Amino acid sequence: MNTTSNGTAPKVDAVEDLDVLIVGAGFAGLYQLMQLRDLGFKVRVYDNAAQIGGIWYWNCYPGARVDSTCPLYQFSREDLWKDWEYTELFPAWTEIREYFKYVDKKLDLSKDVQLSTRIESAMFDQDKNQWVIKTDKGDTVRARYFVICTGFASKPYIPEIEGLDSFAGQMAHAGRWPQEGIDFTDKRIAVIGTGSSGVQLAEQASLKAKHLTVFQRTPALALPLRQVKLDKEAQKEMKKDYPEIMKLRGTSFAGFDYEFLAKSWYDCTPEERQATFEKVWQEGAFHPWLGTFRETLVDEEVNEAAYVFWRDKVHARLKNPEVAEKLAPAEKPIFYGTKRMGLEQWYFDMFNQDNVELADMKADPVVRVTPKGIQTKNKFHELDIILLGTGFDAVTGGVPSIDIHGIEGKTLAQYWSQGFRTAYGTASAGFPNLFFVYGPQSPAAVANGPSLAEHQGKWVVACIKYMRDKKLNRINATPEAEAYWLEKVKTVSSPSLLSRTRSWWFGGNIPGRELESLYFVGGMPMFLEECWNSAKKDYEGFRLS
Ligand code: NAP
Repeated sequence: MNTTSNGTAPKVDAVEDLDVLIVGAGFAGLYQLMQLRDLGFKVRVYDNAAQIGGIWYWNCYPGARVDSTCPLYQFSREDLWKDWEYTELFPAWTEIREYFKYVDKKLDLSKDVQLSTRIESAMFDQDKNQWVIKTDKGDTVRARYFVICTGFASKPYIPEIEGLDSFAGQMAHAGRWPQEGIDFTDKRIAVIGTGSSGVQLAEQASLKAKHLTVFQRTPALALPLRQVKLDKEAQKEMKKDYPEIMKLRGTSFAGFDYEFLAKSWYDCTPEERQATFEKVWQEGAFHPWLGTFRETLVDEEVNEAAYVFWRDKVHARLKNPEVAEKLAPAEKPIFYGTKRMGLEQWYFDMFNQDNVELADMKADPVVRVTPKGIQTKNKFHELDIILLGTGFDAVTGGVPSIDIHGIEGKTLAQYWSQGFRTAYGTASAGFPNLFFVYGPQSPAAVANGPSLAEHQGKWVVACIKYMRDKKLNRINATPEAEAYWLEKVKTVSSPSLLSRTRSWWFGGNIPGRELESLYFVGGMPMFLEECWNSAKKDYEGFRLS
């Protein structure tokens, strides 16, 4: 790379030219790399992490594992899956890192990846139709296309709790876990937050801690993970179905290999409804969420029934009825399934252990953190470790965290400050030749990650190829396409119960933020159909020149 000796930006003539610069070395960014490189483009990926693998570099806390089954949690290319073997149906971060190493070795991705480097800013050069992109290492790179694949979890959200910084013990956020790990043995541990990260962290802490306190603001509507160990024979058997599974990733609602049920709740007898709930419960994982009655997410009666079934299952596992009532209250804390549901293995059972305590933050709020622990209104919790599973600044922490200047003088962050505006969740007007995959107004929140990374990614790759084939240099989304897409995003979310829950899907987890639909919740097939319809009409909704 070209840098001056004092680390400042190099002279213009020292700038390197790329066809495509990609940010993020997770599934989405690496998919872009492998596809575009094969098409003969000069491509480089940048990532702030020290290893490839995206989120799995940062989320390396004990218990961190994926919520999709392993056939879905890999690239769909047969040359990549035929020899790769995960040993668990829901692999842990350690194994996913090994998977990325395997893919890297097979395709030599690393030669086009620059790690430990943050992209700080990008400015569109109108004369040359190129992005001029600067890194935190002082390098400047020119690229015709700029593709941002930073995911939704690149910026951890740390709540403002008085005195949090004064804590003298160890403290870590699940999304920025120290690479060297944290030893939980015989420690007094607090976990704040009961989303997917908090549940997984608490389960692990319960095995080793002297005392674990789970600080719950909203109960975790977690579903049973149903882990399975996979030997070689099981892998071989599963792989017979891989071609079919890979196809379903682009045609099912959320990019999984199962779908909502075709039958309606209203056509079933009460016995059939219960039997259906029981069946999807036994299947576990997201089946009781995305493989159940479709009406669950739109109809209050069905939603209530699904919640009651879940609640009964949780209560049956707990010895103390008061704790059970706090973990799974009679009145549902949010509509069932209206934010991505966590998966648990022994989360509820662990509250039967003597070393595990539930601190209900609504009944007894946290007042402050002191060097020695957490003071609530009624109690002082003396602690060695505080673990934060408090989520992420899902969308504003990603794409707009880079200082991106388009053609009208505004930064992308300024352009989006009154609400997100995108054409098909992939580009914004005034920011030509810039695409984002797995970003705002795409189905990222509800979808399986690799499925969307590949299917939305395919559209971006095809578009860049189209531009080259037609000898075009600039593609810019139109404000009309943005208005059309915003309407679509709203139309699919407003009749559903999702829009009535304050969650990170609507920016509701960041205090003071106006709620808006950050994601397209109409499902992958509708999303992809819209994107490809535009492509078929020579990229309707974009100006090409
Ligand atoms: P999350 O779902 O946003 O959960 C954050 C938790 O922190 C919530 O329980 C929230 O409570 C709590 N919280 C936030 N601010 C708080 C405050 N000031 N005081 C007390 N509690 C507070 O975040 P996440 O668990 O990291 O998950 C985010 C997404 O990442 C998931 O939906 C999933 O897509 C992905 N993920 C997946 C896995 C997996 O299983 N593979 C694991 C981790 C993450 P409220 O609900 O009351 O706001």
